[in-house]
Amino acid sequence: MKCIFCSKNSSNSKSVEHIIPESLGNKKHILRKGIVCDECNQYFAKKIEKRVLEMPYFRDVRHRNFIESKKRRIPVSKGIIGGAVDLKKRKDFGTEVIVNSPDIFQKILNGEVKHMIIPVNDQPIEDNKLISRFIAKIAIESAAQTFSSKKGWNNFIINTPEFKELRYYARFGDKLDMWNYSQRRIYNETDRFLNPKVSDGPYEVLHEQNLVFLRDRELYFVLVLFGIEYVISITNPKIDGYKSWLIENNNKCPIIEKNERDTIKGERYF
Ligand SMILES: [Zn+2]
Repeated sequence: MKCIFCSKNSSNSKSVEHIIPESLGNKKHILRKGIVCDECNQYFAKKIEKRVLEMPYFRDVRHRNFIESKKRRIPVSKGIIGGAVDLKKRKDFGTEVIVNSPDIFQKILNGEVKHMIIPVNDQPIEDNKLISRFIAKIAIESAAQTFSSKKGWNNFIINTPEFKELRYYARFGDKLDMWNYSQRRIYNETDRFLNPKVSDGPYEVLHEQNLVFLRDRELYFVLVLFGIEYVISITNPKIDGYKSWLIENNNKCPIIEKNERDTIKGERYF
């Protein structure tokens, strides 16, 4: 087998690849060992995923929704009481406020500060190249997962010219110009859904994704994480085609069918 990113022989690779990081709650979208070689797996883990997961939005969305890392830790968030304090989730769903600074502690004791501010990170910063490469990686791996049951899929991913540029950008695109993507909130992260075909009761959606052909038969990858939709074109570093498609289609999400499910509106953070 050859690695879908670097095309090197990956038959001896030992790691499985999580298409979406485990630390974002993904337990089922996994590529078997060798589809991504150990070297590329390590590269993505350290240079892309770790950095994305450390961004304030991703730290806070995991904190707010009790999403544990693979080491079963929920990230610590930040609050402000006359200076930065740590907010730690407890197993009983409470929050502990941890004051590490003796100065802040003294100010609280003296009654000099009475309010705590919790900054809300509603969305990741937009037009960010790390996020763009993160989505590109997930897009290529989702394509591999889609085709991996078909004969000759490995050569298909590696040899199809349409995948070539995005594969290279995800893995080696450090110095390349950004591959543009679209980002917008389509539902609140606390919303729950009803669809008897999926579950007997209300269920939550942490992530959903698919490849779709839209305008002019251009292939797009759509990823929805915690209610935020990210879209990237597989073949075109510009995203104008998708923006036009949205206008023509009343801003619907291309991978969620109308009336597919009912929404139970959750608590709004924003
Ligand atoms: Zn590789």
